[in-house]
Amino acid sequence: MDDYQLLIDLHKHALRQGPGGDAETKLALDLCMVDKTAPLKIADIGCGTGASTLTLARQLNATITAVDLLDEFLDVLKKRATKAGVSEKISTLQCSMENLPFDDEEFDIIWAEGAIYNIGFEKGLNDWRQYLKTGGLLVVSEITWTTGSRPSELQQHWDNEYPEIDVASSKISLLESCGYSPIGYFVLPEHCWTDNYYTPMQERFVDFLEGHEYSEKARDIVETETKEIKLYNKYKDYFSYGMYIARKH
Ligand code: SAH
Repeated sequence: MDDYQLLIDLHKHALRQGPGGDAETKLALDLCMVDKTAPLKIADIGCGTGASTLTLARQLNATITAVDLLDEFLDVLKKRATKAGVSEKISTLQCSMENLPFDDEEFDIIWAEGAIYNIGFEKGLNDWRQYLKTGGLLVVSEITWTTGSRPSELQQHWDNEYPEIDVASSKISLLESCGYSPIGYFVLPEHCWTDNYYTPMQERFVDFLEGHEYSEKARDIVETETKEIKLYNKYKDYFSYGMYIARKH
């Protein structure tokens, strides 16, 4: 099995594939100030196994297109949706977020938790804007510096991993220059990283390693994830995901 398949195998058994939380998805939805009984049309881009998709489906009278590059994640999402009794509200679409087959002004809300970095924040804002109705809402979480300065080790790490990381004021400026009115912002609290993401991942490590007979590649993946967790624990005062809510004007 190659590295990519191994990574999928580690993550497809998870409730979420990045930091986040049901309460935080609901908070972002509240900040949208939409009528929850209205028949909204939503795209959840980079949905993974559907953490946010399922929360939105439970909260809203919406039809949701759940988009991900990976069929393996969408298959899990479909099973979870059926179990939760919301499958009639959700359709899945295996597709790259760089090449979406949507019509202009098709959606009331575009949602993307922990995923827009795959295309890049600014490119995502520009490319996806056409699919939103005027007055429609963009809700994205994006890795964000939570302080004005930070240790150089951390800066260097993120400069290599994702040079678009920035402070919230810069991200909000970008929203404005790309044709959106920012209407809400908050920082994901620590439990979104630990209780909801890293701890369940660590609990899967043994099964994952056993399932792949402690192969070198499987051990490498666990080591890389463990390093990421250590980095988070050391420097969590300096970065988190920011949740950005903005209206297309
Ligand atoms: N929103 C989910 C998953 C976040 S992880 C959650 O919060 O749990 C990022 C997701 O983006 C993964 O599911 C990954 O498969 C997907 N992804 C990565 N590159 C993509 C691309 N080019 N197009 C669509 N999805 C992509």
